Amino acid sequence: MKKYDVVIIGGGSGGMGSAYALKKGGYSVAVIEQENSLGGTACNAWVETWIQGLIPPHIEKIFSQLGNHEKKGELERSWIPPRFSKDGGDEEDSIIMLHEPLSKKYYNDLSGKVDILLNHELVAVKEKDGRYVRSIVVLDKKNNVKKSLSATFFIDASADGVLCRLAGNNYFYGRDKYSIYKESIAAKDTTHCKECINEPSLFFRIKIKGKEEKEGKDYDNCTTVRYDNATKKVVAPPYINGDGYPSYFWVNPMTGFDTPGKPDGIPPVIKQGILPTFLIYKKRVIEYWKFIKLNLEYLPKENKRFRAWAKAYKNYIYTDEHASYLGVRESYRIEADRMLTQNDLSEKISSKNLERYIAVGTHIIDFHVSFGLDTEELKRFNKEDLRPYGIPYDCLIPKIFNNILIASRCFGASQIALASARTNMLMAQLGWAAGNAIRICLEESLNDVRDVSISKLQDSKLSKDNSEYTEFYSRVLKLESKMKNI
Ligand SMILES: Cc1cc2nc3c(=O)[nH]c(=O)nc-3n(C[C@H](O)[C@H](O)[C@H](O)COP(=O)(O)OP(=O)(O)OC[C@H]3O[C@@H](n4cnc5c(N)ncnc54)[C@H](O)[C@@H]3O)c2cc1C
Repeated sequence: MKKYDVVIIGGGSGGMGSAYALKKGGYSVAVIEQENSLGGTACNAWVETWIQGLIPPHIEKIFSQLGNHEKKGELERSWIPPRFSKDGGDEEDSIIMLHEPLSKKYYNDLSGKVDILLNHELVAVKEKDGRYVRSIVVLDKKNNVKKSLSATFFIDASADGVLCRLAGNNYFYGRDKYSIYKESIAAKDTTHCKECINEPSLFFRIKIKGKEEKEGKDYDNCTTVRYDNATKKVVAPPYINGDGYPSYFWVNPMTGFDTPGKPDGIPPVIKQGILPTFLIYKKRVIEYWKFIKLNLEYLPKENKRFRAWAKAYKNYIYTDEHASYLGVRESYRIEADRMLTQNDLSEKISSKNLERYIAVGTHIIDFHVSFGLDTEELKRFNKEDLRPYGIPYDCLIPKIFNNILIASRCFGASQIALASARTNMLMAQLGWAAGNAIRICLEESLNDVRDVSISKLQDSKLSKDNSEYTEFYSRVLKLESKMKNI
């Protein structure tokens, strides 16, 4: 059995943050990633837009080192969304890092310093000893061989909380009842919507049609979507709608499973898992594209359901390429020492009292499936009450373990809080903080992640130049310098 100081499960925005924090110091570290390349949702699901937010040091460095053709946006403007910025700006000021160069950059920066096990999936917990996970089993998918790995500490950056769930920690998904966290946006009656989650998207690629080019055979073979001459309507399955975001070459289709309110409404990513859901979405992206094309062709009048689609897209074709990984917005949330809730989102972060915060969220509460929620209150809260808020370290600590930290979308948060917090930049912050916290544990031979000195982790007693860990304090100061009076 191979023994490590730290094993990180998942190589996405969160897991990469942890790996960068741990790559120096001479510790033995492994990243276990089930896919063929690093980067997770931001790379393999093509979610290349990094919505504005406090930028952790490793992302600042990566962005500055990528070539101009591999990134877009201006870093300084991307620190804070326009609604909180004294300089205004707009949402387009988010940075974009193209998926392939970012994934390669991660690999080049980390290989030789940490063990990167691609195509390896965590499948079981092998040994547990009270509040400690001691070893795990991973499947080498290429060679179909199982391997055991042991570690002093683990970081669950799997987005779905795979390690914590396999190890027996409690978890949640779907709507939280109002009575749990007393959130004003929460569904007051969850009878018909308790399973609702923000639906996944499978990104696909389009391009401007060349002279001799036409849509591929998948388009013609798709018979479930067609124009009906008799009724003069585009006929399509009920799960297809025209919402979505076309970008410079990819499309983020917001078309999905329509789970709300059904008696058996458990979302497929929960009920069947991500892979079977991905296979269904592969079929749906061509249905979605044909639906858009036929509507633009036959029903060219302005149509509110097509807010993202200009007539110009008539001249585009589907390239038969889609992301290799399903973009999952939401799945499991792990029960942690502290659960972040809507009520925390109106507490403005302050460098004068950093409390136990290790990351800052600034994005609106962003629901794509809002069934059952108080949508008027949601709008009001985003407009009036939301502030740049802190995320306490305790939200990364799974309730029943001492040697695991969570550094990913599955961290301790209510569904409502996560709808704001799930952005790439925030996951990178969580990963960076978790990796630095484990560094402190290793340096000080701590047995429990709860014993980490938060002020040390935040570097709150150090100036910017001699920061050793997260640089959180100086970064909050920088954020404040950009913030308007709110
Ligand atoms: C459609 C969509 C649009 C979005 N739009 C934006 C946006 O515009 N801007 C923005 O900032 N954010 C956006 N987000 C949110 C953001 O992209 C994600 O929340 C974020 O990337 C999640 O990062 P993560 O590190 O938590 O998880 P991931 O990046 O998903 O990483 C988890 C990794 O763990 C691996 N893994 C899982 N299980 C196992 C296992 N058993 N063994 C080994 N490895 C495993 C996965 O393969 C994956 O690589 C969007 C998300 C989606 C889905």
